[in-house]
Amino acid sequence: MAIERIINTAAKDEPEEQEFEQTLRPGNFANYVGQERIKQNLKLAIDAAKKRDEPVDHILLHGPPGLGKTTMATVIANEMGAQIRVTSGPAIERAGDLASLLTNLQDGDILFIDEIHRLHRSIEEVLYSAMEDFKLDIMLGKGPSARSLRLDLPRFTIIGATTRTGSLAAPLRDRFGMIHKLEFYEPEEITKIIKRAAKILGVKIDDKAAGLLAQRSRLTPRIANRLLRRTRDYADVNGDGIVDEPLAYKALELLEIDRLGLDPADRNLLSVIIEHHGGGPVGVDTLAALTSEERSTIEDFYEPYLMQIGLLERTPRGRKATAKAWKHMGKQQAGNNPQANLL
Ligand code: ADP
Repeated sequence: MAIERIINTAAKDEPEEQEFEQTLRPGNFANYVGQERIKQNLKLAIDAAKKRDEPVDHILLHGPPGLGKTTMATVIANEMGAQIRVTSGPAIERAGDLASLLTNLQDGDILFIDEIHRLHRSIEEVLYSAMEDFKLDIMLGKGPSARSLRLDLPRFTIIGATTRTGSLAAPLRDRFGMIHKLEFYEPEEITKIIKRAAKILGVKIDDKAAGLLAQRSRLTPRIANRLLRRTRDYADVNGDGIVDEPLAYKALELLEIDRLGLDPADRNLLSVIIEHHGGGPVGVDTLAALTSEERSTIEDFYEPYLMQIGLLERTPRGRKATAKAWKHMGKQQAGNNPQANLL
């Protein structure tokens, strides 16, 4: 279904999508829009590290998918003039996989570990001494004859990315010298990102259309770029290839993305809370069962944005739809409806 591709974070794994993202990825701080405070901190750390001729400290980036964690890691590597190797928590299945990654690094290299919260605990432990004193402890053999070997590693930097710091073990979290949370973008920043992407892709888009797409991009660069691509497709097929406001409206209508950037899956989630549970609170597992979504998708993807724009609240007893959510869904909240009070 078309809509799934726009919102589905897993689409990142498709080669075509990866190539698309690669084309649009800014390569330096100057082209990386927004996240000013983080950029300032990182610039300082990079300048200091360069002056001391040392690798920059290990960095943990966290925040919802699509906000620019991978992009930030590549920018840091470029600004350091360092090589970057990219892997992810689930891709490192055995301690041996990690050992081979680490021993193949050169002095000053950056190892980017996406979804670092999904590393096995046993592998995490190998990482501790590697991050702390650039040593790798490996066990040779098993049982009574087993012995451990300590290898020196080059001086490298780990950049970890995670959608949830909460599921990272404290000893691992503590080994990062810098921890930065990426925030949702301002609509003006998203407009800038859309215009930049349009320029790179050769899409003719006017200011109003760029602003409209920005309003509906969940304040997220990845979604903004995807919406731009879909709108361009629509313009190529149904227009003369130029994206103006009326055409952007039509494309968004076809994609069923509403004025707050919600798609049918978001609206389904809200309607389950409102219609089946009187507005909540509802436990996240119940929500997952009722919407046929993974709990992690709800927590990592749907909720952060719905909370950011004030449609959803997390309470100790579960998720609640706010008054704004009732209104957006065109429903009357029982307590606010005088007629309902009479019943
Ligand atoms: P994450 O790793 O957080 O899931 P990515 O770094 O893969 O997100 O970003 C997704 C896409 O959004 C990238 O292709 C990039 O083009 C774009 N992007 C992300 N952040 C920015 C930014 N600050 N400025 C411009 N483009 C960005």
